[in-house]
Amino acid sequence: MTSIGGVGIDAEVSKNFQKILAKQGMEFKLGTKVTGAERKGNTILVNVENAKDPSKKEQLEANVLLVCVGRRPYTTNLGLEQLGIERDEKGRVPVNSRFQTVVPNIYAIGDCIHGPMLAHKAEDEGVVCVEGIKGGPVHIDYNCVPSVIYTHPEVAWVGKSEEDLKRDNITYKIGKFPFVANSRAKTNNETDGFVKVLADKHSDAILGVHIIGPNAGELISEAVLGMEYGASAEDIARTCHAHPTCSEAVREAHLAAFCGKARRINRIL
Ligand SMILES: Cc1cc2nc3c(=O)[nH]c(=O)nc-3n(C[C@H](O)[C@H](O)[C@H](O)COP(=O)(O)OP(=O)(O)OC[C@H]3O[C@@H](n4cnc5c(N)ncnc54)[C@H](O)[C@@H]3O)c2cc1C
Repeated sequence: MTSIGGVGIDAEVSKNFQKILAKQGMEFKLGTKVTGAERKGNTILVNVENAKDPSKKEQLEANVLLVCVGRRPYTTNLGLEQLGIERDEKGRVPVNSRFQTVVPNIYAIGDCIHGPMLAHKAEDEGVVCVEGIKGGPVHIDYNCVPSVIYTHPEVAWVGKSEEDLKRDNITYKIGKFPFVANSRAKTNNETDGFVKVLADKHSDAILGVHIIGPNAGELISEAVLGMEYGASAEDIARTCHAHPTCSEAVREAHLAAFCGKARRINRIL
């Protein structure tokens, strides 16, 4: 890939994320493929090449090599073929909206079906799948499944990125608030990052929330809850938040999305 953060991350967040990590001393080789690695004594030699131009090769020296190149569904040797349950091109098991496979009394959830391979997604599917088996309604809004990158600072988002909205021709407004203007973040000396809210230009409905900063993975839950309940940016902006907390930055970003400006930003910056 040519950017960090993986699929779904907002491009502005990804760029800032990279800058923050670079400031911490991390180096990135983007648009680069690892073609092999070998151990030489206590050193590991890693061969890399440019993804577009394989003639541009390089050898890196490392003392530790962590391989994290992605995952795939573990659906072989389960006897699916004998039951007539086919797998798609990615090895996933097709299911209907009640998580039934083509054999109606065999259900599948989690990593072996469509959607993000995340623990909380699998957990929620498991719960509603069983409720469905017992005759209850089955509903999951995959747009409200949050993503978190557990770095320091954390990155978290839910819903659409700016790139998604542009692609889908949805008119939107942006509200942003930097942690450098948040009193709790300043007290804790964790001022890197910001909250970015994308709301529908006409209805003010929250379409996506992107956070890079202290405890972003915790803060995102407020946005997830708001989106699950169909909240507008104004709804969050008018909700009382304790002071001094990092969650005030979430409120201020919603306020900025709702009416064009945050309340505290001029006073503190
Ligand atoms: C290193 C790593 C880090 C991760 N970190 C995160 C994270 O921070 N946050 C997050 O949300 N997600 C994370 N994930 C992803 C998360 O673990 C998965 O999305 C989640 O566990 C999927 O749940 P599942 O029930 O679909 O599958 P699993 O949790 O894999 O459960 C499948 C179970 O089926 C069993 N099984 C397999 N074959 C058979 C068989 N033939 N018969 C009987 N049992 C069988 C397995 O032993 C396993 O217990 C991480 C994954 C990895 C690998």
